[in-house]
Amino acid sequence: MMYLGVVGYPIKHSVSPAMHNAALKALNIEGIYLPFEVKPYEFGKAILGAKALGFKGLNITIPYKEEVLKFVRAEDVAAKIDAVNTVDLTSMLGYNTDVYGAIRALEENGIDIEDKISLVVGAGGAGKAVAFGLIERGSTVIITNRTADRGMKVAESLRRYGECIFYPYNKIEELKGKIDIIVNATPLGMKGFEIRLPIPATLLDNVVVFDTVYNPPETLLIREAKKRGCKVVYGLDMLVYQGAEAFKIWTGFDPPIKIMKEAAKSAL
Ligand code: NAP
Repeated sequence: MMYLGVVGYPIKHSVSPAMHNAALKALNIEGIYLPFEVKPYEFGKAILGAKALGFKGLNITIPYKEEVLKFVRAEDVAAKIDAVNTVDLTSMLGYNTDVYGAIRALEENGIDIEDKISLVVGAGGAGKAVAFGLIERGSTVIITNRTADRGMKVAESLRRYGECIFYPYNKIEELKGKIDIIVNATPLGMKGFEIRLPIPATLLDNVVVFDTVYNPPETLLIREAKKRGCKVVYGLDMLVYQGAEAFKIWTGFDPPIKIMKEAAKSAL
């Protein structure tokens, strides 16, 4: 029996159980993936307890993607951005499949990244992962963030991997005509959060728009971008590809991506 799960706080919104349980079933793997809402003072006990109970792996989500590094050894990409979203409890290795998920979502949608200029809005876990992936694939990345200090620190930490600068959030309108790809890595537009555009609408002109928000799948930003003729990439694709990569790490099997996507969609 393969025991898997996701640890976060809160965790109610997660569609990962639906996605992974559908994949386990499709491949006839005897296993189960469960959500665990763990309070901050019990996080360490939860990780070590899951290992002791024989769990194979866990996804780690908000707010524990950095804290989990106290318990596992970060694999290459996770070490570079100091964030883990997938743990293999057999090896106690921590991976970051958000980077892979974001880049595969862009590539599967036929988006050229190399030598492009990307604006990443948000400097939290998702922003850092997408920015790193874009830099690795040869894009120049401009990071902007509501809290300038955090954005500047992330831009500085990523600069060792390629071109990355910070731009003040209240001035991004000045970038009109100078960028190729816009990424929303804030919760703006997500169900339960403030529903407004994370960028001035004037920037939605001849750019690719990638919204990492996946609930609802068709966000305000995606709708506005489409209206203005921009090519769009959905957060749901990133969600599925990051999950698929985690599934492969734990099981060693090729993930049934179509089935995972359908399950995630129905769970939303
Ligand atoms: P996080 O670490 O908490 O970071 C949130 C970021 O959004 C920060 O940069 C924050 O800016 C900014 N922000 C929050 N509220 C804002 C507002 N009202 N106006 C402007 N900026 C605001 O969260 P995260 O893990 O990066 O996740 C961010 C979003 O990415 C999530 O809501 C989720 O929808 C999406 N996501 C998607 C996937 C996927 O697989 N598709 C995976 C992970 C995350 P400050 O620094 O100023 O607080």
